[in-house]
Amino acid sequence: MGHNKIVILGGGINGLTCGLLLQQSGYTTRLITAREWQPVADDPGFTSLYPASSIKPVTVKTPILNELLRVSQERFSALLQVPESGVRQHVHYEVHEHPEEAPDYANEMKNFRLFSNGTAGIPKRRPGLPVSGWYYDVLFADTPVYMPWLREMYLKTGGQILLKTVTAEEICGLPETLIVNCTGTGTIGLFEDDANDVRFVKGHQIIIGLKDIPEEYRYPGFSYNYTAGSEIYRNPDGHAADVYFYPRSDCWILGASRQECRFGNNGQMIEEPAAHTMTVIGATGVPQPMYEINRDILYETLGLDISALPMDARFGYRFIRKKNGLRLESAPMGDKMIIHNYGHGGAGVTLSWGCAVKVLEMVTNG
Ligand SMILES: Cc1cc2nc3c(=O)[nH]c(=O)nc-3n(C[C@H](O)[C@H](O)[C@H](O)COP(=O)(O)OP(=O)(O)OC[C@H]3O[C@@H](n4cnc5c(N)ncnc54)[C@H](O)[C@@H]3O)c2cc1C
Repeated sequence: MGHNKIVILGGGINGLTCGLLLQQSGYTTRLITAREWQPVADDPGFTSLYPASSIKPVTVKTPILNELLRVSQERFSALLQVPESGVRQHVHYEVHEHPEEAPDYANEMKNFRLFSNGTAGIPKRRPGLPVSGWYYDVLFADTPVYMPWLREMYLKTGGQILLKTVTAEEICGLPETLIVNCTGTGTIGLFEDDANDVRFVKGHQIIIGLKDIPEEYRYPGFSYNYTAGSEIYRNPDGHAADVYFYPRSDCWILGASRQECRFGNNGQMIEEPAAHTMTVIGATGVPQPMYEINRDILYETLGLDISALPMDARFGYRFIRKKNGLRLESAPMGDKMIIHNYGHGGAGVTLSWGCAVKVLEMVTNG
């Protein structure tokens, strides 16, 4: 082992997963992070506060997507045997009102099956509406259980966590010669990258607290993505947008939106104009069709009228590198080696174990 002391920057899902895997593989690490995960999502740039989190690759670009997904799925599957990790599996439906081709990742999903109009039990907005699509068994890392479990495991295997915001100037003075960069959006300002390539994809979510959902509905045993068609719900680029539903141990999460944003010259966030009127939930505006489609599906499928329940809304920023995609590579910096692991878009949980295994390979191979 060339480097036996390693520092990981960032305490989100990727920092913790890399830290745990390196510790388990015999390396000594410490992790420095500005903030740690908490149950309240109050910082749209700290993405690990927002995922639902399904193990399914969306809004991400990398030529080795299926390889990373396969490795991640193996690791998450193994965690099904560890109930305290919060990893579980349920049926996930991807439903379309207009016929669609199955995605490239279809072959990677467990028990993948197509369905056509007339199949019983498929979530839909209204009775009799023609829908088609596919369903499979999705792995699901229940974030409020999984993130504290991951942290605990990292500490148990000897990892150390230091709460501190590192500056670009301080990086050269760190005693470790190997740095694993998992700072997500924090990378901007810390390390060199192509500023023109950096984008944020704003994603809205509606949150319904579990305690506010009548007991008999709380754990319906499925989740969905549902695309009604661009005439009903579209992204600002005009393409049909999907909505989603995930039941978690603390809440139901209803999404989604994909609104591209970038930093302007003065550092202000510039957003694409929204495609729809916003409806205000709590203090946050969300696209009206995102709320209405989910409301109608849940009523039609479960018989529950969510409009009668208290709810809140929020948004987070998926961090993408538009042209270059996920950055998973090592680069020298003075006498140090930096292994970058960021730009996971909407799939940072999904790819976390696959990326950590790649980081371990880079560490081992020097
Ligand atoms: C609305 C929404 C829904 C999503 N749903 C899913 C999903 O279902 N499945 C999925 O796989 N993915 C999903 N994602 C994407 C996923 O949340 C992210 O890809 C993932 O959380 C990224 O994790 P990370 O650890 O790389 O970065 P982050 O979670 O952003 O963590 C970065 C860490 O670096 C620290 N840091 C930053 N700067 C510094 C500094 N200067 N010094 C020290 N520390 C620093 C921060 O404090 C933080 O701890 C979703 C994202 C959003 C926004």
